[in-house]
Amino acid sequence: MGENSLPATKAACVLVQELLPLYVDNEVAPDTRRWITEHLQVCPDCQAAALDLTQDILDATAPIKALSDPLPPNPVKPRAGLWPVMTWWAWTAFVAAAAGTFIVIMILWR
Ligand SMILES: [Zn+2]
Repeated sequence: MGENSLPATKAACVLVQELLPLYVDNEVAPDTRRWITEHLQVCPDCQAAALDLTQDILDATAPIKALSDPLPPNPVKPRAGLWPVMTWWAWTAFVAAAAGTFIVIMILWR
């Protein structure tokens, strides 16, 4: 497939990129699909647009893409995972808060 075999016209690009969402969703007629596929083979611009679109869809559906995602693949984190993050000052603050609460309760109880 030579790059110059089919000159990609601006009008075709507009049309292709307008149809791309349907194309990647497999919602275009077979003839249209074939035409878009052929256009993508000769048009780097539309190719990039199609890739972007496919990427978006992969992001939304494929967990494999989570590797490049800042979000963890499994959002349900076990509580124990937080403990190593707790440093001595965090513990001190926790103990102080607990002690303070205890003292307030003792005072109110009298
Ligand atoms: Zn194009």
